[in-house]
Amino acid sequence: MILVVGGAGYIGSHLVEELVRTHEVVVLDNLSTGHRGAVDAQAVFVEGDLGSESDLESVFSKYPINAVMHFAANSLVGESVTDPLKYYENNVAATLTLLKIMLKYNVKNFIFSSTAATYGIPDVNIIREDSRTQPINPYGQSKLMVENILADFATAYDLHYVVLRYFNAAGASESGRIGEQHDPETHLIPIILQHLLGQREQISVFGDDYDTPDGTCIRDYIHVTDLAQAHIAALDSLLAEKSKTATYNLGNGQGYSVKEVIDTCESVTGRKANVIIAERRAGDPARLVASSEKIRQALGWKAERDLEQIISSAWNWHQSIQ
Ligand code: UDP
Repeated sequence: MILVVGGAGYIGSHLVEELVRTHEVVVLDNLSTGHRGAVDAQAVFVEGDLGSESDLESVFSKYPINAVMHFAANSLVGESVTDPLKYYENNVAATLTLLKIMLKYNVKNFIFSSTAATYGIPDVNIIREDSRTQPINPYGQSKLMVENILADFATAYDLHYVVLRYFNAAGASESGRIGEQHDPETHLIPIILQHLLGQREQISVFGDDYDTPDGTCIRDYIHVTDLAQAHIAALDSLLAEKSKTATYNLGNGQGYSVKEVIDTCESVTGRKANVIIAERRAGDPARLVASSEKIRQALGWKAERDLEQIISSAWNWHQSIQ
């Protein structure tokens, strides 16, 4: 059975929807940001906290867990700057507790959600896994700390793990059942679509004086279902004992500027946006684009869905929950 910690959150719930097709799944989530209704009905759901040894013990003693996928983290860059304690406590200390209980129950397979924020401000145009990691905010630091812990645990305790460094996850399940629902929403694509649905007065572009062709920040957007499928490929490779440890980027390999994303939202929805230029947001690198060549070569995975498909799936979802 696979334990998905944080399986009620945005990325976790999309992963669970795919994973239940081929695996038995138990979800542990404290519902601090996740939604109970987002968890696929085929998964067992346990409400609990990954920082609580007793909540973890009750899951590990009851279910025959052979791998853990860990999605339960705080992930807002700005908030991590103003409240680093929360990030180190929830993202690092709680993950240590999870790893400790895993080892106690002799569970040695682990999939970890990491981030492009581990790279900081890259000194290359296309980021590879061996590019320099130098986070510029506590969120990125917290994820890199766990990556380093995992490497030590692999050496000392024979932990097998895959680290997946996400670029910009976006879009919604093609089932139409789940999508991106944060409160408050801070991410670009849902903000644009909420505006185009009349739920926000305008869109603020955070800076148009970056060193990019149109002056706005460039990101690599990846469909959440592609992301989910990469996790399953990584999990199956661990379970088949093909490799002991690996770190992969997950992106599309294509960068889009904030302006290009707005243009694509306008063309997908047929609606016109009211855009204003605002101050830069702290902690935003000008350009983050991944090479996902390593995971393609190792596991045969690549992103199948482009920016239009990301936006149209998100648009269907946002319209359906109005
Ligand atoms: N962004 C923006 N206006 C918004 C939200 C985001 O201009 O209302 C920009 C943000 O500065 C970044 C890009 O859109 O350059 C993607 O931001 P998001 O928060 O979606 O993801 P992040 O890159 O921070 O993970």
